[in-house]
Amino acid sequence: MTTEVAIVGGGIIGCALAYTLAKEGVQVAVFEKERVGGQARIAAAGILGSGVESDGRDTFPSLSAQSARLYPDFAAELEAATGLDATYTRSGALTIVFGETQAMFLEHQAGVLAAAGQRVAWLEPDALQATEPLLSTKARGALFFQDDAHVYAPQLMHVLTLAAVAQGVTIHEYTPVHGFLTTGERVTGLQTAAGPVHAAHVVIAAGAWSRLLGDHLGINLPLKPTRGQVMVLETYNRPLRRVVFGAGGYLAPKQDGRIVVGATEEDAGFERENTAGGVAFLVKLMQRLAPSLADTRVHHFGVGLRPTPPDGLPLLGPVAARPGLWIAAGHHRNGILLAPITAHLMSNAIRKGDLAPLQPYAPERFGAQ
Ligand SMILES: Cc1cc2nc3c(=O)[nH]c(=O)nc-3n(C[C@H](O)[C@H](O)[C@H](O)COP(=O)(O)OP(=O)(O)OC[C@H]3O[C@@H](n4cnc5c(N)ncnc54)[C@H](O)[C@@H]3O)c2cc1C
Repeated sequence: MTTEVAIVGGGIIGCALAYTLAKEGVQVAVFEKERVGGQARIAAAGILGSGVESDGRDTFPSLSAQSARLYPDFAAELEAATGLDATYTRSGALTIVFGETQAMFLEHQAGVLAAAGQRVAWLEPDALQATEPLLSTKARGALFFQDDAHVYAPQLMHVLTLAAVAQGVTIHEYTPVHGFLTTGERVTGLQTAAGPVHAAHVVIAAGAWSRLLGDHLGINLPLKPTRGQVMVLETYNRPLRRVVFGAGGYLAPKQDGRIVVGATEEDAGFERENTAGGVAFLVKLMQRLAPSLADTRVHHFGVGLRPTPPDGLPLLGPVAARPGLWIAAGHHRNGILLAPITAHLMSNAIRKGDLAPLQPYAPERFGAQ
C-alpha cells in the first residue's frame, strides 16, 4: 500500500490531523491497533478548560487558548460534514475552594486574571449556590472562567471519525504497527499487521504508546502513561450547568444529563483497569464537591492513559535525525482541548514546511536516548 501520509494511532490527535490534512487534499491513512477513538472514546472527561487548566506557564496557555478559539468552528465544521451534533457546549467552568485562605487567594487571582484580559469572576458562596445548587454548601466561593467549554468526548470522536472518512481518510482498525520502513536515515513507511505501507510522511500519534514506537528507530520520546479513572453518573433531573474543579478533581456535566466525576492520576504503567482505590477516590471526591449526588445511578466507570511528557508540553513536529518522520503526541490532560490547534499546526508544517510555531514543542528537545 502507498499513501502520502501514514499516521500511527487513531486517537483524537491522529484523527484530527488526518481530517485536517484530507480537507486540504492530502491522501491519508490511519493505522490503529484497537478500535478508533483512543482515550477520548473511553475515558476522557471532554473538558475544554483553557482558562481553568492554565497553570501560569507561557507556552501551554497560548496553545490551549488558540485551540479554545478554534473549537466552535471546528465543531461546526464537523457537524456540517456529518449532520451530527459534535456536543460543543460553552458552559463556563468553576474552581471551587473550601478554605478561607484559598478563597482569599483566588479572589485576588480573579482580579489579576481579569486585568490580563481573561473573562473571570469571583463568586461568593451565596452567588455560587444560586448558580449551582447541587454543589456543597461548605464551599467558600469559586473562580468562574466564563469562556471554558466541554464536549461529550466519545460523541465528538464519533463525529470526527465520520468526517475524516467523508474527506477520504482510510482508517485501518485492529492493525498494529510493528515497525518502520527506512532507507538510510529516512523513514519511508510502516510495517503493519496488514503488510508494508509506503508513505512520504509518517506521523507517530500513538499517545502514551509513542515512546515504544520511538524505540524502534532509536529516538527518545520520553512519554509515560498516567492512568486516569473516571465515574460517570446518570442524572436527568438534577442538572449541573458548569464544569466544576475542586478538592483535587472535577465534575464535568454533559448535554444528556450525565456527569463525569474525575479523575485519578496514577503511575501504573500500561494497566487499564478500574481499581478499588480509584473508585474510592472518585466517590469521596463526589461527596466533597456535590454530596447530593450520592443517590445518583452510576452509569459506568472508565479508565484511560494520558500521554505525559516530562516538561508538560506536547511533542509536535519533525524529527531532524529521521527525515520523513513526524511526532504529534504527549498532550497529557488536554488532548481533546488541543486537537484542533495540533491538527492545524501539524498540517501546515507537513504541507507547507511552516515549522516556526512548533519550535517550542520540538520532539528532539530531550536529547538522545
Ligand atoms: C481520565 C481521563 C480524563 C481526561 N479528560 C480530558 C479532558 O477533560 N479534556 C482534555 O482535553 N483531555 C482529557 N484527557 C486527555 C486526553 O484524553 C488525551 O490527551 C488524548 O486522548 C490523547 O489523544 P492521543 O490521540 O494523543 O492518544 P490516544 O487517545 O491514546 O490515541 C493513541 C492511539 O494509538 C494507538 N496505538 C498505540 N500504539 C499503536 C501501534 N503500535 N499501532 C497502531 N496503533 C497504536 C492506541 O491504541 C490509541 O488508540 C483525559 C484523559 C484521561 C485518561
